[in-house]
Amino acid sequence: MKYSEEVYTLAEAELNRRRQTAEQLAKSRRDDFAARYPELLTIEKTMRDAALEVLRTIGVDGTPPDIAALAEKNLQAQKDRAALLEKAGLPADYLDPPYTCKICKDTGFCGDSLCDCQRKLLRDLSIRSLACSPLLAVSTFDTFKLEYYSTVTDPAAGVSPRDMMHAIYDTMKEYAENFDSGAQSWFFCGGTGLGKTHLALAVLNRLTERGFGVYYSSVAALVKAYEDEHFGRAENTETEKLDKADLVILDDLGAEFRSAFSVSAVGEIVNDTMLKGIPLLVISGCSFGELEERYGQRLVSRLNGFEVANFIGEDVRQIKKGL
Ligand SMILES: [Zn+2]
Repeated sequence: MKYSEEVYTLAEAELNRRRQTAEQLAKSRRDDFAARYPELLTIEKTMRDAALEVLRTIGVDGTPPDIAALAEKNLQAQKDRAALLEKAGLPADYLDPPYTCKICKDTGFCGDSLCDCQRKLLRDLSIRSLACSPLLAVSTFDTFKLEYYSTVTDPAAGVSPRDMMHAIYDTMKEYAENFDSGAQSWFFCGGTGLGKTHLALAVLNRLTERGFGVYYSSVAALVKAYEDEHFGRAENTETEKLDKADLVILDDLGAEFRSAFSVSAVGEIVNDTMLKGIPLLVISGCSFGELEERYGQRLVSRLNGFEVANFIGEDVRQIKKGL
């Protein structure tokens, strides 16, 4: 249930904005109303006095105040106020701040625990902060279409792409439903347009719904960010986000610009994430042979320890266009 620092900060700012907007609106309504109906000031004074009386009596000599009488006084004042509002043709709660969440009054907390409105806000913001394209919203398990995969047996795999994809789909759906700390790492391999990113984002969406923090980035973008951090051009924000994630998804390994720096950065990122006990989901269009040639034996043997999902078939995007 942990999100990045950025997400918590954004949620707090949004709650503050909601609360201030509601309270400012209530204040300006009250001032306008009091100008038109000065009786309101007398009623408000009665309410304030009743509250003060309770405090004063307790504070001075410990004699318990006549709570019942004071409550009665306060209740009567509230009735008077409601009557005044009714006379003006306004609803009884017109002077109350119109909070977005009536339960926590936009504080985000109910007692010591997070209010549901803040939970939802954190989830929404964590998805938004990923900013990884409109693809995210449409890439769910529900929108994943097995019909695009052929039922003809693939000679190399010994099964049809549809059967293979069906098995991978079911496994990943179960993975997302049962995900917890200590979950397995995954390696998605296969050609382009076979639904690797779609299925990974479906996992992301489901985990986010379940309150987990998921880090998603293309390897190219992450290496670039890593480089900026390494050379002091940025704060360590990307690394921090990675550290706080419950699952790290790295897309398109092998498509990034190849340099000595990128090769060592990729090795380091995968290694560090694993050492911290954070499961990874690595996606690549390269074969193990190609990856070994590029990154060396060490990274490949790490990936070999992951569960492997081999995506087979024809480019689904081409098939979709033809339908
Ligand atoms: Zn709330």
